Amino acid sequence: LNRRLSGMGTTIFAEMSALATATGSINLGQGFPDTDGPEEVREAAVRALREGRGNQYPPGPGVPELRRAVAEHQQRFYGLTFDPDTEVLVTAGATEAIAAALLALLEPGDEVIAFEPFYDSYAACIAMAGAVRVPLTLRAPSFRPDLDELRSLITPRTRLLLINTPHNPTGLVLEPAELAAIAELAVEHDLLVVTDEVYEHLVFATGHHPIAALPGMRERTVSISSAGKTFSFTGWKVGWVTAAPALVSAVRTAKQYLTYVSAGPFQYAVAEALRLPDGYFDTLRADLLRKRDLLADGLSAAGFRVFEPAGTYFITTDITPLGEKDGIEFCRSLPERCGVVAIPNAVFYDDTEAGRSLVRFTFCKQDSVLTEAVERLARL
Ligand code: PMP
Ligand code: GLN
Repeated sequence: LNRRLSGMGTTIFAEMSALATATGSINLGQGFPDTDGPEEVREAAVRALREGRGNQYPPGPGVPELRRAVAEHQQRFYGLTFDPDTEVLVTAGATEAIAAALLALLEPGDEVIAFEPFYDSYAACIAMAGAVRVPLTLRAPSFRPDLDELRSLITPRTRLLLINTPHNPTGLVLEPAELAAIAELAVEHDLLVVTDEVYEHLVFATGHHPIAALPGMRERTVSISSAGKTFSFTGWKVGWVTAAPALVSAVRTAKQYLTYVSAGPFQYAVAEALRLPDGYFDTLRADLLRKRDLLADGLSAAGFRVFEPAGTYFITTDITPLGEKDGIEFCRSLPERCGVVAIPNAVFYDDTEAGRSLVRFTFCKQDSVLTEAVERLARL
């Protein structure tokens, strides 16, 4: 393994999901639903397979039906207009979009400011691009970014701001005023913004605000999303990028040599999913809100300090009130102690002290599974 990737051996998600399987534990670690997405979307994939749509290499930028559906979705929910031919790119999940964007846009030595805790692929992709990550640490209890600190982190080498709202793992949702301040800094310092919005439909109170909609941002923002979260098909790995033509063209160049294309039949099915009526999105959110409260109440009753998330399907907790200090040790022993798997937030920090006692649980599971998990955790 080369120096860029040293220390990045196995992702925490792979490690913890393997531990869940090996010990037969309830897996509240890796974020994937235990119920598949809408039947009609699954049937659309089956139909595409049977009809031979997408069984051979689809077009590199993605099938036109999906690119049109992505553009329509951006218009319908955010009033943003994108040309499906020049401003939309289909990727193999958001993960590939992140990789292709960073590999395409960064020069070696460029600095990237990103919220810490980081989703794990950010650090790896910044490293693969030979760039330097500069963390802006989000701190408990609010996890709100300190925008003065953000300003102070900008140097002549800063090239890009990598933001994520709703934020994994904290559940932070950036407010319009925070987005406006970030946008102003980007314009003032002529920075690119890559924004990971995979949880755009999992915002419980305030609604999702894409930074691309703000003044001066349309030309400098690469927005990323994915069907995995919104439609509960994490295994399909269909994601997308929307951006101005020059940026999409750059990201497409990198993407061509990573995967060339992602699975064809699923792209046709996701095109149908993006056109589901508003009721689908409302029900998804309402169900997850109920699950959030179920898990949050259970974790509080079990003695965890709970930081209520405004978005995503994750809850970050502090284990200090349980007499525990180290989230990594806690998560490694949890399956044996009570048959539950969680993720230690420390692995998403450079400043491991800031995340040492924090542990993340996902609530995208059936109510009965969440109830059983909190009963087990209460016996700790
Ligand atoms: N970004 C964030 C913040 C995530 O939590 C995830 C995990 N699903 C991804 C990107 C990756 O998404 P995908 O599965 O579509 O590659
Ligand atoms: N995004 C998912 C999570 O945070 C995991 C995806 C993955 O395993 N790479 O749990």
